[in-house]
Amino acid sequence: MYTITKEFNFSASHQLFGLPDGHPCARLHGHNYAVVIELQAAELNSHGFVRDYRQLSAFKTYLEEEVDHRHLNDLFGNASVTAEHLARHFFAWCQARWPEMSAVRVSESARTWAEYRP
Ligand SMILES: [Zn+2]
Repeated sequence: MYTITKEFNFSASHQLFGLPDGHPCARLHGHNYAVVIELQAAELNSHGFVRDYRQLSAFKTYLEEEVDHRHLNDLFGNASVTAEHLARHFFAWCQARWPEMSAVRVSESARTWAEYRP
């Protein structure tokens, strides 16, 4: 199995609800997010790629135009703005375009990653 990954970045705000009193994520705050999309294929295409990295720039355009510097609660709803939910949303967006999608990882900070892998 061959695996490729590409990292993307955006900045956005969010606020999580229903958490215990005093939880810092309940306050309005923002992150410089990192998103790594992963694609796999058992066989390479005629160019020797799982998929040409250049084709993945459509995801960069999507993030820039629809997600970057926005309030994620407005985009995804108040219950769906954890890194875990974002990973699943981005996976669905990518899989609709690239059937080789195997996972998406989302980071809100240098030491934390959430992954969606069906
Ligand atoms: Zn947060």
